[in-house]
Amino acid sequence: MIARVKKNDTVQILSGKNRGKQGSVMAISPKKNKLMVKGVAIATHHMKPRRAGEPGGIRKEESFIDISCVMPVCTACKKPTRVNSKKLDTEKVVRMCNRCKEIF
Ligand SMILES: [Zn+2]
Repeated sequence: MIARVKKNDTVQILSGKNRGKQGSVMAISPKKNKLMVKGVAIATHHMKPRRAGEPGGIRKEESFIDISCVMPVCTACKKPTRVNSKKLDTEKVVRMCNRCKEIF
């Protein structure tokens, strides 16, 4: 199996209140099959200052969403796509766009 989604990929959100939005992947948690997308699923944290000099207040931060809720956007055709894998001559397995067959 290859990674469907990688860090810094652009992905489209398929479900939830952010459906249809696109953003870049900030972090991935492969064990939990979750990822963080910039500007999506922002949770508001109300922070109290814990240490001296640390500001409290309200902090907005992206939270992890399930990896199955997103689709990678192909860099060649700019559309959200399913991922095929392709084995190169060098035995390396790469991702291939299911629409335009480009490697991305
Ligand atoms: Zn494509």
